[in-house]
Amino acid sequence: MHLVVLAGGVGGARFLRGVRAHARDVRARVTAVVNTSDDISLHGLRVCPDLDSVMYGLGGAADPERGWGRADETWTVKEELRAYGAQPDWFGLGDRDLATHLVRTTMLTAGYPLSAVTEALCHRWQPGVRLLPATDDRLETHVVVSSDDPQADGGARSEAIHFQEWWIRHRAKLPADRFVFVGAESAKPAPGVTEAIANADAVLLAPSNPVVSIAPILAVSGIRDALRTAGGPVVGVSPIIGGAPVRGMADACLAVVGTECSAAGVAGLYGARAEDGLLDTWLVDATEDADTRVDGVEVRAVPLWMSDDDATAAIVAAALAPT
Ligand code: GDP
Ligand code: CA
Repeated sequence: MHLVVLAGGVGGARFLRGVRAHARDVRARVTAVVNTSDDISLHGLRVCPDLDSVMYGLGGAADPERGWGRADETWTVKEELRAYGAQPDWFGLGDRDLATHLVRTTMLTAGYPLSAVTEALCHRWQPGVRLLPATDDRLETHVVVSSDDPQADGGARSEAIHFQEWWIRHRAKLPADRFVFVGAESAKPAPGVTEAIANADAVLLAPSNPVVSIAPILAVSGIRDALRTAGGPVVGVSPIIGGAPVRGMADACLAVVGTECSAAGVAGLYGARAEDGLLDTWLVDATEDADTRVDGVEVRAVPLWMSDDDATAAIVAAALAPT
């Protein structure tokens, strides 16, 4: 059996730990297709937050409290950069984490594609699943924000900033008009991505942020089509429980795209495969209204709290249960 999972960072990593546990029981192979549109260059280094969250999370090296970055981290370089007044100062890179970005940047500069670099980094972490970046090509989420500018027409100026600046620096509080996935039309899926989706026994959409973790993967030309024509079922897991994200600020992202922050709202965003969308099955939390209806989609209600790997593996088992 071969399972494919589309995933963002922290939520994706937790989900994948459960997928891996379930896969061990049923002897399945797992391929994770991970968002790369949060990637950013900082201080000359290429940083891939979602790939690293998944790699560290599955490699047993993630900081359990923060959810991102390395356990037992120290921050000497960050303090030294601050002493220089180096910008940007709003994105924290820990000392241990920096080694990953140094190795990655050296390999990228030498001409290796991100997929090969990721495979090389995973030799150390042995995540137990195959990690593929959604694309080797440039793909960057930008956020179009407006700010007051008395000089400009209508008194407001519109500009696009990198997703991380909006998310980390402004804590998703800066009013945003829309997200743009720069490079999505020309970006090609990384080697192996569309083949894995086409041949998977099932494709799972992790309960990752639908707007800025899953949507940019789907925006890579060819990936959405691969899902639409996949041989196995496509099953999504809601990141929203009781009308709120379990963690993080997905509500702010859903507001930008005009989608209600609810399990049904997110399902509507993905759409039914029967009707030009993606989903065959949608998992909502057991506490959600038992009659959450999504046209053309089979809805299953099960506990969706990923409190530990066993609880998450139970979610995965429910996602894969035959109809
Ligand atoms: P990021 O890229 O690091 O922001 O992480 P992801 O996009 O992969 O995941 C973030 C999403 O995970 C958030 O919208 C959360 O609501 C969701 N999430 C986190 N923990 C849980 C959980 O225990 N259960 C469910 N259903 N969703 C969760
Ligand atoms: Ca992310």
